[in-house]
Amino acid sequence: MNDAVKYLLDEQHLPRFWYNINADLPVPLDPVLHPGTQQPITADELSVIFPRGVIEQEMSTEREIEIPEPVREVLRQWRPSPLYRARQLEKALNTPAKIFYKYEGVSPTGSHKANSAIAQAFYNKVEGVKRITTETGAGQWGSSLALAGSFFDLEILVYMVKVSYHQKPYRRAFMETFGAQCIASPSDTTESGRAILAEHPDSNGSLGVAISEAVELAAQRDDTKYALGSVLNHVLLHQSVIGLEAQKQMEMADAYPDMVIGCTGGGSNFAGIAFPFLGEQLRGGRKVELIAVEPSACPTLTKGTFAYDFGDTAHLTPLCKMYTLGSSFMPPGFHTGGLRYHGMAPQISHLAKLGYITPRSYNQLECFAAGIQFAKAEGIIPAPEANHAVRAAIAEAEQCRETGEAKTILFNLSGHGHFDMQAYIDYLGGKLQDITYAEDEIAMALAGLPSIG
Ligand SMILES: *Cc1c(COP(=O)(O)O)cnc(C)c1O
Repeated sequence: MNDAVKYLLDEQHLPRFWYNINADLPVPLDPVLHPGTQQPITADELSVIFPRGVIEQEMSTEREIEIPEPVREVLRQWRPSPLYRARQLEKALNTPAKIFYKYEGVSPTGSHKANSAIAQAFYNKVEGVKRITTETGAGQWGSSLALAGSFFDLEILVYMVKVSYHQKPYRRAFMETFGAQCIASPSDTTESGRAILAEHPDSNGSLGVAISEAVELAAQRDDTKYALGSVLNHVLLHQSVIGLEAQKQMEMADAYPDMVIGCTGGGSNFAGIAFPFLGEQLRGGRKVELIAVEPSACPTLTKGTFAYDFGDTAHLTPLCKMYTLGSSFMPPGFHTGGLRYHGMAPQISHLAKLGYITPRSYNQLECFAAGIQFAKAEGIIPAPEANHAVRAAIAEAEQCRETGEAKTILFNLSGHGHFDMQAYIDYLGGKLQDITYAEDEIAMALAGLPSIG
């Protein structure tokens, strides 16, 4: 039996403002640099690939940024998203801990990515952009932008990492249903793609390569801009609706989290749930432990270097100071497509460096085991990415069982796994293996970090 406890907010509690952590940072972020001059990049330079509305947000230090009404109108279709108390999981674990999870799988595309896709499509539309190019790993971001493009009448061109393109034909069909075009990356449609193919004809692709392809096209045409689904400040800003809602819902539950947990690919869903709580702490409120969980096979925060690096393989993007495995690192073709990125959001990197965020990594087998344990208790099959957050939440709850502490754990269930059943088939069939990170390849990629001087 599942006597689920659900905390629902009505429409009027849909946030009116996004929360910008830049307003509360104890030390400001290092500037983003132009890839050619290595000088702090200007809004004019960024406007080649991004709309002005997005650039303003990227550089803003204002704490609250109003969510435009047309964006709220769309978000209202599935937001506020539910917060659940994982009572069945607590019972199964026999833990005194209270476990809460915010469920972002209720969006039409099945993950949190739609929160930013809608906002970015809106800013492009009001500035007269006709076409948006982007990359997608597992397909969640591409699906979300395809949906947003359909709502705001924009052409969407998606470069999908090749390994996922073949593993996930349903994701491609999803994007095409909304009228988007989807191309396997590396492709022969761009110079960056052709260069990779010449060197590695069998390349599985990576987010870094797909970003190069998308940025290259956007830079060539005035009516075309580029959109990124994670990493940058404005994306993390758009995701703050998750944590802002969760704050109200935890209040409804008469609880406050001792720890907030999220999985991290580029960092957007983790920041989305964690930053509003961290903001309170930074303004003198209660302390919360923030745990960022990444795969052992792509261990950016736990094994990377904090340095200026490019966001893509062909070095077309600006330079960001972040934890990185090196922009030429090709993560192994493990299933968790959404977590295969060499870099990490500068805001998360910065806060991890300052000690406000605790990174942790897990192997994929233990994450699938945790995801299945969660599904059996709570009835929701998590996306493989989200299994990393589930794994950490279970580990913390088990720790509480040992110590007898009744901690309050909040984690973000960033998406459902309904498009990822092949990964579950492989796991259940014993075909998945733990892939340890490639120490030598990372060392090589890090040796190639740009020298800034
Ligand atoms: C894309 C994705 C992630 C990883 O991206 P972040 O920007 O780190 O959030 C995690 N979970 C799901 C379901 C995703 O789609």
